[in-house]
Amino acid sequence: MADVGTAVGTVTADPASAFLAGGTTQVDLLRIYVEQPRRLVDINDLPLRDIEELPNRGLRIGALARMNEVAEHPSVIDRSPLVSQALLLGASPQLRNMASIGGNLLQRTRCTYFRDVSTACNKRTPGTGCAAMDGVNRGHAVLGTSDQCIATHPSDLAVALVALDADVIAEGQRGRRSIPVHEFFLPPEDTPDIEHPLDHGELIVDVEVPPAPDGSTSLYLKVRDRESYEFALASVAVALRVEGGMVVEVRLALGGVATVPWRARRAERMLTGQPATTENFAAAAREELAPAVARGMNGFKIELACRTIVRALETVAPDGAR
Ligand SMILES: Cc1cc2nc3c(=O)[nH]c(=O)nc-3n(C[C@H](O)[C@H](O)[C@H](O)COP(=O)(O)OP(=O)(O)OC[C@H]3O[C@@H](n4cnc5c(N)ncnc54)[C@H](O)[C@@H]3O)c2cc1C
Ligand code: SF4
Repeated sequence: MADVGTAVGTVTADPASAFLAGGTTQVDLLRIYVEQPRRLVDINDLPLRDIEELPNRGLRIGALARMNEVAEHPSVIDRSPLVSQALLLGASPQLRNMASIGGNLLQRTRCTYFRDVSTACNKRTPGTGCAAMDGVNRGHAVLGTSDQCIATHPSDLAVALVALDADVIAEGQRGRRSIPVHEFFLPPEDTPDIEHPLDHGELIVDVEVPPAPDGSTSLYLKVRDRESYEFALASVAVALRVEGGMVVEVRLALGGVATVPWRARRAERMLTGQPATTENFAAAAREELAPAVARGMNGFKIELACRTIVRALETVAPDGAR
């Protein structure tokens, strides 16, 4: 496919079809029978690979730009280091050379039961139950869960985008629209199979990333079982601006612990206007995790998330923290 309209029209017209970008998620899911589209529409020739600087010091990143080329692009390193860091801490170099930005946002959960068609999974087959509830759920979510699904959202990039209030730009039969990234990822509630607001055949064309707050320092911190080629147990995207020892502005988002890339608004509210101290960072982290629900093996994530938040904030605070 060489133009967006044809690609959108082709997938829209056939409910059993899907887009194919780098294939690093899609082909895996075909091989294990989790997804069985009748037709794959290859979108790799579409002109959606540019990375542009916007007048507001933000960026527009084409949906087909590869993770590595985005992470290593000078404009991204300069204007959005959080995005660059989050991308470089994901997957492996080989995968990052294939994997696209749009595909990254639409990758599916790594829940083992979702990927095993012999088990019950409400996300894969609605109404069948959830084998993870009382199963091996060490990697599962403690925030944003429902009694239907507790799967974590796996994308690192999405956590950085949520912290930065990015927009996902999509084109479908209804035209082009901009979706704030915090509205893009849907919590499971009663319909864990519905993960985003895109129509069938609607294509992500770009992601627009505003600049981090003026004067802030940012960091993506990822904690995992091994140092590379592993998904997050807990991750934190932070942008912090401190003046005279006081928090003027803070953006905080969590990965690895929630069903969606999680904007930590409770912690942000608690920290803003307060002294940038380790004690306040820890109190804000506890406040954010207060609604967490542990299930069987994943209780350790509550403490881990708190510690990861504190460490991230201490790292970007001007003189560490007092
Ligand atoms: C072993 C392994 C480890 C990984 N580790 C990490 C990690 O640590 N962190 C992390 O964030 N990710 C990780 N990933 C996930 C990886 O980043 C994604 O697989 C990749 O980004 C998907 O991009 P893709 O271009 O290959 O998408 P595809 O596999 O081609 O597509 C994925 C889905 O998105 C749809 N799609 C693709 N592009 C568009 C578009 N523009 N508009 C609408 N729909 C679209 C496809 O139809 C499909 O449903 C890992 C993957 C693997 C296999
Ligand atoms: S946690 Fe979600 S994805 Fe995993 S088995 Fe349960 S319903 Fe399926």
